[in-house]
Amino acid sequence: VISDLSEIGAVGHRVVHGGEKLNKAVLINDAVKKDIEELSALAPLHNPANLIGINACEKNMPGVPQAAIFDTAFHQTMPKKAYMYGIPYEYYEKYKVRRYGFHGTSHDYVSARAAEILGKDRKDLKIVVCHLGNGASISAVKNGECVDTSMGLTPLEGLIMGTRSGDLDPAILDYIGEKENLSAKEVNTILNKKSGILGLSGGVSSDFRDIDAAIAEGNEKAKTALDTYCYRVAKYIASYAVALGGIDVIAFTAGVGENNYVVRKQVSDYLAFLGVKTDDEKLKIRGEEIVASTPDSKITIMIVPTNEELAIARQTLALL
Ligand code: AMP
Repeated sequence: VISDLSEIGAVGHRVVHGGEKLNKAVLINDAVKKDIEELSALAPLHNPANLIGINACEKNMPGVPQAAIFDTAFHQTMPKKAYMYGIPYEYYEKYKVRRYGFHGTSHDYVSARAAEILGKDRKDLKIVVCHLGNGASISAVKNGECVDTSMGLTPLEGLIMGTRSGDLDPAILDYIGEKENLSAKEVNTILNKKSGILGLSGGVSSDFRDIDAAIAEGNEKAKTALDTYCYRVAKYIASYAVALGGIDVIAFTAGVGENNYVVRKQVSDYLAFLGVKTDDEKLKIRGEEIVASTPDSKITIMIVPTNEELAIARQTLALL
């Protein structure tokens, strides 16, 4: 694409955690880097790695503007009732324990693109974005702003994911820890890396292509994993009808959302009571921008492939 590094006019970095302070994309300076470093406590696997990338680019492209685009930023418009947990208030004050939400760049891009495809203003739509990839999250977007999302303090909360458990009774941590003689940290690792579709399927895979193949061979645990996954997605969507006061559009995106017909179909079928009617020939199409509901469906079902790189490039350009 380029023949020399000097052709690069700016670099946009995807940074996972911006906390409450870094609530929109910014040009990076020493103060921003310090903030990103301080937020490493909330995203220990991601923010330090993001800083390594930023420092490497600064070193190799001196003077070239660097921008930070935060995964959490789009969700900072959530009302307090959506981001507070039912725990002592002092933990929010002392440690900033609250819902942040992730995949924000994708939720922003897909909700905006869905409105664009429909020829409508995003501000006039109530949109649920289902970002179903290896990590998975849902958001409720009203008047162009996020009002709720399924991931929390960390990306562990919410939907069942490739290897993450999503929502569960917090008492399970202590219970399994005691039974298996594991520390809270060790159980946390199991919830992040060995749970979700991988764990529920009895170790078949975290990849939905393998799950589909195992189901075709009659694997019951794989079927349970898929059914539990879809049921959870549908329950979240229905609960966001409360957050939004109704739903106009449901948009599926990311690896599973863009490619997996069975997931889209099962989830849509649960929502028939809300007036969802799918056009199954269209719902079967993979990885294309498409409206997959019938004209008389009360909610528009869409597939909108995400494009976080484009969104990051555009936000970087806007900052310049
Ligand atoms: P992502 O994190 O967005 O890259 O999504 C990764 C997941 O998407 C994989 O683990 C697969 O389960 C799923 N996926 C990707 N491609 C396909 C496909 N062609 N058919 C079904 N599932 C797919």
